[in-house]
Amino acid sequence: MTEGTRCEGCGALLQTEDPARPGYVPESALERENPVCRRCFRIRHYNEVARVEQDPDLYLQLLRRIGQTDSLVVLVTDLFDFAGSWIPGIQQYLARNDLLLLANKIDLFPKSVKRNRLREWVRRSAEKLGLRPVGVVLCSAAKGFHIDEVIDAIERHRRGRDAYVVGTTNVGKSTLINRILREEGEGGGEITTSPYPGTTLDVIRIPLEEGRALIDTPGIVRRDRLSEWVSPEDLRVIVPRREIHPRVYQLNDRQTLFFGGLVRFDFVKGPRQPFVCYVSNDLYIHRTKWEKADEVYSRHRGELLSPPSESADLPEMERREFRLAEGEKKDLVIPGLGWIVAGKKEAEIHVWAPRGIPVEVRPAII
Ligand code: GDP
Repeated sequence: MTEGTRCEGCGALLQTEDPARPGYVPESALERENPVCRRCFRIRHYNEVARVEQDPDLYLQLLRRIGQTDSLVVLVTDLFDFAGSWIPGIQQYLARNDLLLLANKIDLFPKSVKRNRLREWVRRSAEKLGLRPVGVVLCSAAKGFHIDEVIDAIERHRRGRDAYVVGTTNVGKSTLINRILREEGEGGGEITTSPYPGTTLDVIRIPLEEGRALIDTPGIVRRDRLSEWVSPEDLRVIVPRREIHPRVYQLNDRQTLFFGGLVRFDFVKGPRQPFVCYVSNDLYIHRTKWEKADEVYSRHRGELLSPPSESADLPEMERREFRLAEGEKKDLVIPGLGWIVAGKKEAEIHVWAPRGIPVEVRPAII
């Protein structure tokens, strides 16, 4: 390939090595006149975007450039992995833009959970991070819940300006854009892409209707989520696809729960009490005695306790200690996996997770 050929559609530098990065094009497609990257090709011909990710430093540069424009920024987050779907430093770059916050994957929450309460929780969490969103919409890209509301909110808050869609990988950005393309594309004919005038942002400008444009940016990878460390096979087990059925364990002190072989939860001290687990229904939870936990882990990791599969190369497990007061209901959150509700009574808890994966404590969301 000639050095420095750019995609006709988005302006990304074309490359044939990595399908997950911007500008990817299969060798065979390079023969064509005016080649476009695979992402633009799919949008043009199938009204479909594919997922690409970008180097975190380049992504922050992109955010900085978006921050200098007068536009609406649409931040897509995963409601089930809210902490893990936050872009670190976003407030610094986008403080002056109007920000519309979309909380995706609402379908995973039990129907009994009040939607207004969740929306308020999302808004408060954003404010704590220093952001004042102009709107918060809960939606499900996969199930098509509230997509009309999403489209209306984008249109209302855009006020004739461009709208940039940003987010970390795996939050459902591509699924959402495809939904919007499908809804808007009905009878709308073929969608074309064009590079952003005068720049190469590796973004895709998607004209929807007259004067409307959605700009899709690649996603940023966050390595501090369990979901980034496991194989695609294991990912299917830990990323929930259906409504979560919370699993309740009444534990005595000195009892342990294993979440596959990925996370270990020790209830060390405190009166007998319930712990409620919000993780994928497909993830095996194994209960054992605290005294036996080390042995169980070393003997059964990768078999009974999986994922991860035996060969997986995860960082060493690291122990974090928590002391909760009675009645202070808290979620212990493991980004990329889910959370455990604790604190019905006072409790000393140890959570073991691979080094580099934080375990966060937040007031119970449900
Ligand atoms: P992207 O990396 O942000 O573009 O995310 P994708 O669109 O590729 O989605 C990541 C994963 O989340 C895929 O397995 C999707 O099927 C799933 N997903 C996307 N939207 C939803 C949703 O609304 N609900 C649920 N349960 N899963 C979703």
